[in-house]
Amino acid sequence: MIFFVTGGSRGIGEAIVRQAACEGHDVAFTYLESEERARRVVQAARGSRPDARCEAYQLDVSSSAAVERVADRVLEDFGGVDVVVCNAGVNKNNLVVSMSDEEWDGVLRTNLTGAFYVCRQFLPTMLAQRFGRIVLVSSLGHAGVSGQANYCASKAGLHGLCATLAKEYGRKGITANLVVPGFFDTDMTRDGMSEANKAFWLQYCPAGRMGELQEVARTATFLAGEGASFINGQALAVNGGLDWAP
Ligand code: NAP
Repeated sequence: MIFFVTGGSRGIGEAIVRQAACEGHDVAFTYLESEERARRVVQAARGSRPDARCEAYQLDVSSSAAVERVADRVLEDFGGVDVVVCNAGVNKNNLVVSMSDEEWDGVLRTNLTGAFYVCRQFLPTMLAQRFGRIVLVSSLGHAGVSGQANYCASKAGLHGLCATLAKEYGRKGITANLVVPGFFDTDMTRDGMSEANKAFWLQYCPAGRMGELQEVARTATFLAGEGASFINGQALAVNGGLDWAP
């Protein structure tokens, strides 16, 4: 199958790109600024499977014109797309009382509006194929985390988007599902998660640890695979048993 993964240059997105390539899929993925890291991801994917088709594209998902341009290029380069993984995400933490318009809008535009643009852009191709798999990367934050109103609202919005996609396109051979990660060691959590929340996680997560990136990547490829053909509009948590944070 042909995968399109947003935010594949680092963290969870990189793991999904590498997992999909390992499993024998062709992968187009995007990065925002990390061109060099994206190049290394391409090399790693090709290293794991010499005949892997893997290409990186610069894209800001918050621009609908850019999404349109890059989607057209990917479709031309790869001849189609079967699986869309909306993974690109940012956080900008603040208490609601102090949150600026920019902090609110910036996070919503990337995490939620960007996912909408990407899904909208690839749906005509999926409809024409009468096949498509959409995987949206949410967060346990969709249920609310103190200091992350913008991030949590964007992730809760993805749940509404997913449920609607499932209903609108379920009869057309297209499924839409969410992966809901708990706590994974990436740049986002290294820079943007408080020490108190990290300590909370390690104390209360029944698994007693944070997740391995491959664990969330394998869940994403599972939702795109044959074993998930009748799973539609669902949220699959990958969190070692802890689904909330203070
Ligand atoms: P990360 O390491 O910070 O990586 C973020 C990725 O998104 C990078 O590839 C980045 O590209 C890309 N990106 C950022 N803004 C973008 C934009 N406007 N347009 C296109 N791409 C953009 O984050 P992560 O931890 O892997 O998170 C990946 C996803 O998992 C996010 O949706 C996040 O909310 C979700 N998540 C993560 C955790 C966790 O524990 N890490 C938990 C729950 C949910 P550049 O490299 O070019 O900057």
